[in-house]
Amino acid sequence: MEGVRIWPSPDSTRVVFDLAAEPKYSYFTLQNPHRLVIDFNETTGKFDFNDIENPKSLVKKVRPSKAKSSDSRRVVLDLTKTVKPKLFKLKPYGPHGHRLVVDLQDDMPRAPVRTVGEFTNGQRDIVIAIDPGHGGHDPGAVGVSGTLEKRVAFAISKKLANLINAERGMAAFLTRNGDYYLNIGRRSEIARNKKADVLISVHADAFTSPRPRGASVWVLTMKRANTEIGRWLERSERHSELLGGVGEVIQDTQSERYLAHALLDMSMSHSLSTGYDLSKEVINELSKVTRVHQKSTQLGNFGVLKSPDIPSILVEAGFMSNPQEERLLNQSSHQRKLARAVFAATKRFFSQHPPEGTLFASIYEHRKEHIVKRGDSLSMLAQRYNVSVNSLKQANNLNKSTIQIGQTLKIPAT
Ligand SMILES: [Zn+2]
Repeated sequence: MEGVRIWPSPDSTRVVFDLAAEPKYSYFTLQNPHRLVIDFNETTGKFDFNDIENPKSLVKKVRPSKAKSSDSRRVVLDLTKTVKPKLFKLKPYGPHGHRLVVDLQDDMPRAPVRTVGEFTNGQRDIVIAIDPGHGGHDPGAVGVSGTLEKRVAFAISKKLANLINAERGMAAFLTRNGDYYLNIGRRSEIARNKKADVLISVHADAFTSPRPRGASVWVLTMKRANTEIGRWLERSERHSELLGGVGEVIQDTQSERYLAHALLDMSMSHSLSTGYDLSKEVINELSKVTRVHQKSTQLGNFGVLKSPDIPSILVEAGFMSNPQEERLLNQSSHQRKLARAVFAATKRFFSQHPPEGTLFASIYEHRKEHIVKRGDSLSMLAQRYNVSVNSLKQANNLNKSTIQIGQTLKIPAT
């Protein structure tokens, strides 16, 4: 590191690191307090600059921090608020040598317009399909004083999509963009066409009595799933359509029914376990901002959950048959709280289980950990995380193959 320069202006701040060589870097942001953390990788150069104070600007301070490894250097920018950083390298030019430029725009729109799944440095976004329940001639449940479920679901969905789209490495789209009817099959199809990593369907309950209240989260039951698999196999002409990517490898002939079944099963159980794990995070976050009707994941057979290749969850935001809750569900501030909770849960889930090839994978891969649960074994975990048993043992200095419940295991990068 040869120097750090800061140029504050009313609506943006530029920080430039002057470097001895072309930087290899990675970065991530943190909140509470807001920070941008930059790791300069594969460098053993000196980085011993003093803290740079800059209290009036977006960047309050630039300071060195503890590096993640001996061949990297870490710099932290303390920020006054969340901003989307833009980082790029500059080659030597004129009096300047190698530089890393950090641009921080102050007035970023909350939901920048971008194409779903857009690649950032060759690393794709995690794509979230958000499905506002009902619509058009189908109002869904009707609240005690006339609130329509389709409106509440849409309002929460929209807020959730905005939060996701403001997050680097995540992109969201809505299955319906207005007040019109979409059948169940079409909703999954839209999600599949846009290669969604997960589908979150948003609803609000109503019951015959005003008593029940609180949110709940649903996933498809395995029992029902198996029945659905049977049904798909019967309608053989539609396999490839239903299976998305998996379908392409299935020759739909009588003799390959077994293979088809096995692949469907695998795809389905992956979707189910992903949906289930995500649902637990969502319940956990929702319980911080609203009453939760059921503290565990509910198993149901809603049509929208039945897609074998896209992990799907259904969030019931609350009961509109309860007068207090109906009032809350109509409030923009409450809708925002719910959306934030689902967002936080989704982000946490994907930072712990980043799909391969995503920006999240490159940011969070090296921090992947697994807390041993009842029934886990090394060979099972090795398979799940696509690593060898030996590399798991090495990463955790294990001599034996026994692991203990509650033990935290480092998952080596694949
Ligand atoms: Zn509904």
